[in-house]
Amino acid sequence: MVENSKEEAPKRSLNFIEEMVERDLAQGKNDGRVQTRFPPEPNGYLHIGHAKAICLDFGIAQKYGGVCNLRFDDTNPTKENVEYVDAIKEDINWLGFQWGNEYYASDYFQQLWDFAVELIKEGKAYIDQQSQEEIAAQKGTPTQPGINSPYRDRPIEENLQLFYHMNTDEAVEGSMVLRAKIDMASSSMQFRDPIIYRIVKTPHHRTGTKWKAYPMYDFAHGQSDFFEGVTHSLCTLEFVPHRPLYDLFIDWLKKGQDLDDHRSRQTEFNKLNLNYTLLSKRNLLALVKEGFVSGWDDPRMPTICGYRRRGYTPESIKMFVDRIGYTKFDALNDIALMESAIREDLNARATRVSAVINPVKLIITNYPENQQEILTAINNPEDENAGTHTISCGRELWIEREDFMEDAPAKYFRLSPGREVRLKNAYIVLCTGCKKDAQGNVEEVYCEYIPETKTGQADCNRKVKGTIHWVSVNHGIKAEVRLYDRLWKVENPRDELARLTGEEGLPIIDAMHRMFNDNSLEIRTECYVEEFLANTKPLDHFQFQRIGYFCTDKDSTPDHLIFNRTVSLKDTWSKINK
Ligand code: ATP
Ligand code: MG
Repeated sequence: MVENSKEEAPKRSLNFIEEMVERDLAQGKNDGRVQTRFPPEPNGYLHIGHAKAICLDFGIAQKYGGVCNLRFDDTNPTKENVEYVDAIKEDINWLGFQWGNEYYASDYFQQLWDFAVELIKEGKAYIDQQSQEEIAAQKGTPTQPGINSPYRDRPIEENLQLFYHMNTDEAVEGSMVLRAKIDMASSSMQFRDPIIYRIVKTPHHRTGTKWKAYPMYDFAHGQSDFFEGVTHSLCTLEFVPHRPLYDLFIDWLKKGQDLDDHRSRQTEFNKLNLNYTLLSKRNLLALVKEGFVSGWDDPRMPTICGYRRRGYTPESIKMFVDRIGYTKFDALNDIALMESAIREDLNARATRVSAVINPVKLIITNYPENQQEILTAINNPEDENAGTHTISCGRELWIEREDFMEDAPAKYFRLSPGREVRLKNAYIVLCTGCKKDAQGNVEEVYCEYIPETKTGQADCNRKVKGTIHWVSVNHGIKAEVRLYDRLWKVENPRDELARLTGEEGLPIIDAMHRMFNDNSLEIRTECYVEEFLANTKPLDHFQFQRIGYFCTDKDSTPDHLIFNRTVSLKDTWSKINK
């Protein structure tokens, strides 16, 4: 027992959000309830940043016996659609989380409208018919107060009539907005009469053409939390300036009652920002639309579906998110941390197989022409329950071109004339030479095997320094292998994109072209894998020994096998040369 407990991972300390929730529970706030929500806007596919929010929203509810609901923040019909709604649900499920209820901000359009009407009647909102630019110019700056709109004191009746007009077929986009009447001199810019309703004529994916007047984010989010009974509204740091408004609208809704202990509170944490990775659905949509990638699930995309297709597991993503943690500071996390999480996870679960991705033929000249042998391969040395599978060996094998060198340095423990290596799971062979074409390219490599050195043979104690993998020419299956590299050449694409489109004034697509890594995908069609992989299914995970972790692509078929490299092996040599 004592021995075991020593090996347990040390418990991580509480993060600042867990501390807050525990404080609230101790004080009996919200009657001891914990309710969170994950509130995506269905305007794109979820990315790894969303995974960080999901793990927190669902994780807090799980840990404290509460519930986390899924709420689609669908207040902008021009960018949203059902494809995204479905994809978001699939991705959350795949990560292993279950929401309590499925809500939509659009379900509250009537309630929000009624609330807006009430505010107009109370003199707390007015219709402004100025242009966006005029309104923005009058806002002032953090050091300079704003200027009142000429429409600020419009009579209540007129405001009501115009508000109703905003929701008719005759309403013209951009012709007017509803603004909350707060304080144009407030130190909080958000309080300078924020716009709370605007006209959008694009039909909505759920409510069709019923609405033409749509609430702005700030007028929908907090209230939606309130309607649902959310206790802890967790969001990212850019919403800090919105918090006073979040609280104010809830105050107005509650009309001053019971304010402190029964209400939703917004708490902000830092966004995930990964090096060599660009997040934000707006950017990812541009990549898809402009054909930089094959789609939202291109394995180079930082979307959840992209990582899934690339071979990342939900466990590895959650492990990574847990390790980077939650703070109040903007950070740039190292992609290497994500890669080490997936390596750790796949090391424990991936079946070891042989695949040759840069083939050259090796002929065992003293191996009988028609002889074939069935050998045993261990599925996973890290997991004794994983069992074994068989591989066939013959006279001709595929090996990696890199595993033969005619004039090799002393420490090259692979094939070179006069040197011995072990063929994984088979025999020790002595390299005898090669055949080259007129240009000097190696066409075939020759060797002789030493029959008494068969792997697993009790009396075989002959040692060699190197072991190489191989695939039998007669039994192996041709396959396509896709090797991925980072999508961006620059370490912080978010900031570089901002600089290029800002300082240098480049259009976003041109800026993306400048940063794009043209070598981010290498397709190899002449690869060979052992016959064990004949019936692999999409998303199966494997370790191609000495090469890396791979995952069967969703488009792979028995007639055309396709494998995606999830991640390379960190240390190619030390693990293999046992
Ligand atoms: P994007 O800029 O990528 O479109 P968003 O914030 O507009 O992101 P939403 O669908 O509105 O996307 O976000 C749903 C939730 O995910 C929000 O609570 C948001 O704060 C959170 N979120 C978005 N991006 C990140 C990120 N990079 N790291 C952590 N959480 C994020
Ligand atoms: Mg958004």
